[in-house]
Amino acid sequence: MTSRIIKDEELLGKLVIDHKAKIVGKVTDLGVSYDGKAVITVQSETPEGTKEEFFYMDRIAAIGDVILLKPPTEARTPITPVTPAFPGPAPPSVPTPAKQIPSPPPPPTSERVVICPVCGAKNRPTAKFCIKCGTKLVP
Ligand SMILES: [Zn+2]
Repeated sequence: MTSRIIKDEELLGKLVIDHKAKIVGKVTDLGVSYDGKAVITVQSETPEGTKEEFFYMDRIAAIGDVILLKPPTEARTPITPVTPAFPGPAPPSVPTPAKQIPSPPPPPTSERVVICPVCGAKNRPTAKFCIKCGTKLVP
């Protein structure tokens, strides 16, 4: 086996297809990562605009009419900017007092008073005579 030198022309402008036969994009540039590994720049047109992805050269499974990528588990992860998915642990939810103390129902006044049949004054049930007109109240 002799190591093969890949020329730019073999890569540039070629379609990149991942292991699921999904089109990733087209190779627009070649570069070298900070640790000395060759990197291809793959651009794809999305509804949101042009998207750029970077893949290590050892992520390439085969180069033919198209460039085939290996599954991510078999290769190094693509160079993508690391953005934390979560800014931090969510603060514990503070239980809010959902239940309000219900106000006690008003005392049933209708049963607690005796209406004077003559003047209509409200008398206590224990009253024997009307407090207003003095009429004798019948229990
Ligand atoms: Zn009365």
